[in-house]
Amino acid sequence: MLIFRKPIEGIERPQMPADVVIVGGGPAGMACALRLSQLIDQHNATHPDSQLSKENIYVLEKAREVGQHCLSGALLDPRSMRELLPGFEKEAPLDAEVIKEAVYFLTEKSKFKLPITPPPLRDHGNYVISLNRFVKWLGGKVEETGITIFTGFAGSELIFSDDQKEARVTGVRTDDKGVDKEGHQKSNFEPGYDLNAKVVILAEGPRGSLTKQLINKFDLARNANPQTYGVGVKELWEVPSGRIAAGEVIYTMGWPLTTKEYGGAWMYGGKDNVVSLGFVTGLDYADPRLDPQRVLQDFKQHPFVAKLLEGGKMIRYGAKSMPYGGWWAVPPVAGNGWMILGDSAGFVNSARLKGIHLAIKSGMLAAETAFEALKKDDSSAATLGEFQKKVESSWIKDELWKVRNMHQGFERGFYAGMFHTGLQMITGGRGLRNRYPATAGYEHMRKLADLPADGGAEAHLLGPAKGDGKLTFDKLTDLYHSGTKHEEDQPAHLVIDDTNICNTRCVKEFGSPCQNFCPASVYEMVDDASQPNGKRISLNPSNCVHCKTCDIADPYQIITWVPPEGGGGPNYDGM
Ligand code: SF4
Repeated sequence: MLIFRKPIEGIERPQMPADVVIVGGGPAGMACALRLSQLIDQHNATHPDSQLSKENIYVLEKAREVGQHCLSGALLDPRSMRELLPGFEKEAPLDAEVIKEAVYFLTEKSKFKLPITPPPLRDHGNYVISLNRFVKWLGGKVEETGITIFTGFAGSELIFSDDQKEARVTGVRTDDKGVDKEGHQKSNFEPGYDLNAKVVILAEGPRGSLTKQLINKFDLARNANPQTYGVGVKELWEVPSGRIAAGEVIYTMGWPLTTKEYGGAWMYGGKDNVVSLGFVTGLDYADPRLDPQRVLQDFKQHPFVAKLLEGGKMIRYGAKSMPYGGWWAVPPVAGNGWMILGDSAGFVNSARLKGIHLAIKSGMLAAETAFEALKKDDSSAATLGEFQKKVESSWIKDELWKVRNMHQGFERGFYAGMFHTGLQMITGGRGLRNRYPATAGYEHMRKLADLPADGGAEAHLLGPAKGDGKLTFDKLTDLYHSGTKHEEDQPAHLVIDDTNICNTRCVKEFGSPCQNFCPASVYEMVDDASQPNGKRISLNPSNCVHCKTCDIADPYQIITWVPPEGGGGPNYDGM
């Protein structure tokens, strides 16, 4: 029997009053905290009689250390950072300024360089960074302001008021610590805190677990397109000098994906001959046997890529989902007592493959709104709704509006996508109509009976990568390089509503795709003679790198990712 991680009912929890709780210490959450502190400082300097305190402003971060769970390509468009901290370049950990970029279309053995780099992928002036180092630095800035960052604390539940007339978010419950696999309290048991907050700000990254609760509770996505996602699987390599310059950026389309799948690769030259490379596979592919970690391994075997990496060494691994859905998939971002930021809201420009600058800007706008709420002592929808207006009149909307139909255009494959993209570029993002509809990615997955048994044109993408240990790696070898660690004796943090579906239907209909799409080998179908198909689902939750792919891509939508005991997860460094 699987016991799932959820707060224990009926115990007394410490109550803590809070003005603002920011859930998630990534770029959006940290920018929000920093901007809020700046505004409070300015206010206090000019209003000696109505001082505002930072004492009850908290950032909750589930990682043991700030930045440890942050992963991205990453290229930073500095626009929002220049607004937040003018002159930040002088002290921030930036690897290199982009000096050269190229886009290639790959076939199995050849490459074709696009004669002109498409405008969205022109990166001169952007910076190659390691997101987790950058966020660590930003976290240091927040700590200097006196705002408390609780590391190792996950937000496990939202607290709502019971008032049906004016339903609102009133706080966040943090994770219980010291619960064993069977759900019993261990000797080190500590109940989670109830942080009763005036304003709760969700900055959890893509497919946030509290954001999901909030969206479901208030049916916030009813007028939005379904959010669509990709999963980026990344490796960091040390290569011999001269292969790729610091600040050199390479994007590829095509192989190993066929024209039916959406996705592409990046290679960014950092300092000290470190290369960030990865492949984003759209989580809307048809064949359940496709494995995104395998896609990256196939990509590295292309002669062009293999030559760049030859003689090098893979030093880190990780994975993370990213929201692709664009402007039409953004739900309302503010209401009674709450706001949603960054990737949790879906602020990603998928044409540019960038979201960090939008996350930071959304954090700043939310801080300005929270500041007004604190001054007025009013965090109702009327006050926090200003955040919605601020986003809509900011450059976040300007940027996302121009690419509002981008990903939807690719729902029918690469050629249709290129046609729609071209049309959208000359019509300011409109294309054939103002709003293209979208289908949730998991609805594209087809049953095995409807697919060629040998995989057809996708055969090379299917099944697990074996790995040669030099250029390519099997999943467990890659996973070792993510530094992932969890307390072993705790309930599973992957909640499967009905494991019977896994054991009786999914195994037959889809061949248990969780084994393939999870980049960390968390899901396993083990032999069990008592099951009708001789197989039973088994989980290795300690392997989880918190990418959220399973929550997104499962064809029955019965998997929910909830935070494990705070402090557990990947240990990204340089990612
Ligand atoms: Fe990602 Fe889910 Fe696998 Fe964890 S279990 S690594 S969230 S797919």
